[in-house]
Amino acid sequence: MKEPDAGGGTTGPGGGGGVTGPGAGDGTTGPGGGEGAAVPDGVDPTAVPSGTGCLECEQAGGWWFHLRRCARCGHVGCCDSSPARHATAHFRTTGHPLVQSFEPGEDWFWDYSTGELYADGPALAPPASRPADQPAPGPAGRVPADWARTLR
Ligand SMILES: [Zn+2]
Ligand SMILES: [Zn+2]
Repeated sequence: MKEPDAGGGTTGPGGGGGVTGPGAGDGTTGPGGGEGAAVPDGVDPTAVPSGTGCLECEQAGGWWFHLRRCARCGHVGCCDSSPARHATAHFRTTGHPLVQSFEPGEDWFWDYSTGELYADGPALAPPASRPADQPAPGPAGRVPADWARTLR
């Protein structure tokens, strides 16, 4: 998938230009890796999450289903099953393709630019997820009673 103005992908810094090669098996690479491809460059492990809920939904008074956290800048946005899909919007406007699930117990990464799912990735700055007692969908009090009908 090509986003003409996304900026990130093909020309970005690093761009996966063979940092260590595709794990050609010279022993030393990847401590305990071994399960598929590694998360591409473009992750900032020091970026703190923008909050415990979707940044734009909090501002607009909206609600979300599940949360995704940008692995580059820490932006927290709502997933594609949510009404506003702010995580995808963040990728479109910033060119930050990598997100990690911000749901408790989930640590997979997703690359919007390639549609690739990574079961594992670098440890990002805590918290790694929204508070476990925060409801999904959320936030409490703003989810319409018929929310299930609006899911995509
Ligand atoms: Zn949102
Ligand atoms: Zn970002």
